[in-house]
Amino acid sequence: MGAGESPMMDSAYSLTPEEIAAAVEACGEKPWRAAQVCQWLYGGRAERWDAMTNVPAALRQAMAGRLRDLDGTARVREVAAEGGATTKLLLGLHDGEMIETVIIPARDRNTVCVSSQVGCAFRCAFCASGLHGVARSLSCGEIVAQVVRAAQRIGRRPDNVVFMGIGEPFANYDAVLKAARLMNDPRGLGIGARKITISTCGVVPGIERLADEGTQFELSVSLHAPTQALREKLMPVASQWSLDALMAACRDYTAQTNRIITFEYTLVAGFNDRPEHARLLVALLRGLKCRVNLIPLNPVKEFAGEAPDPRDCEDFLAFLERHGVNTTLRRSKGRGVNASCGQLRLRAFQR
Ligand code: SF4
Repeated sequence: MGAGESPMMDSAYSLTPEEIAAAVEACGEKPWRAAQVCQWLYGGRAERWDAMTNVPAALRQAMAGRLRDLDGTARVREVAAEGGATTKLLLGLHDGEMIETVIIPARDRNTVCVSSQVGCAFRCAFCASGLHGVARSLSCGEIVAQVVRAAQRIGRRPDNVVFMGIGEPFANYDAVLKAARLMNDPRGLGIGARKITISTCGVVPGIERLADEGTQFELSVSLHAPTQALREKLMPVASQWSLDALMAACRDYTAQTNRIITFEYTLVAGFNDRPEHARLLVALLRGLKCRVNLIPLNPVKEFAGEAPDPRDCEDFLAFLERHGVNTTLRRSKGRGVNASCGQLRLRAFQR
């Protein structure tokens, strides 16, 4: 925490342009100064208030007295290159907690994977993030600042953002939606709504709320199993919101929004990669506007499952395609990193 900061202070990255204008006015300045501040926050990517050289010094001081240090919202502690392609940023928060953000370059674009919580309460079997439960949810500013830090790292605005890091986005719904809107706002980061993907392990009320928002954000659902019994073995969330309830919410979502849902399906040898599982999956998705990402498991120490045979993966893919399900299969080897939502699901974006 910076000198003179209170733990209750908000981050400038938590504020909408309208809220920044109100803060600027509260400091006795004209509201149009807010545009300059936003420009520095998102375009110039100033790390400190005193770097905003065309903003009056009195306003900078007043804002610094009301809002957390810009670099203190999420300070880069460590940068780790992974698998020769992706970069993981370890970010320190004002209260000493740590989060991670992953940058994935692919061809001519960069995808940034953000965390939404410190830890996770959902304890999926294959995931290290859920091992110790959840410490707290991130603020909107702590989520937006991850993308700003990634942009600083790559030297330009990222092309895609995926909420597939640590935490369940719909367990932190309000902050996640506000952050996604700020990323999308042309006065904020200006990333297209369809380039922002919110991913859930199956929190049905979150899917229902998102359907009502009228936004163009993408929705991704971690399915991983075609039956309730199998899904419960992998994902405890299934005993809270059943597969039937999840699929009903997904059908309502597509009917209401006319948008496609992406289902993530991690193939685990002998567990969910058999022909009968492909048949069950086709039946489950029949008539639903969706695509499926098949992700061969990259074994991790947290989970006893084994990697599937590549021929079984190809057969699974071929069966889904033959039955009209828009499906992709990630074929190259995954990264050797700890398991998390990110590890299992990000691989679909590394094409
Ligand atoms: S996979 Fe995602 S939802 Fe499941 S425990 Fe990990 S972080 Fe939480």
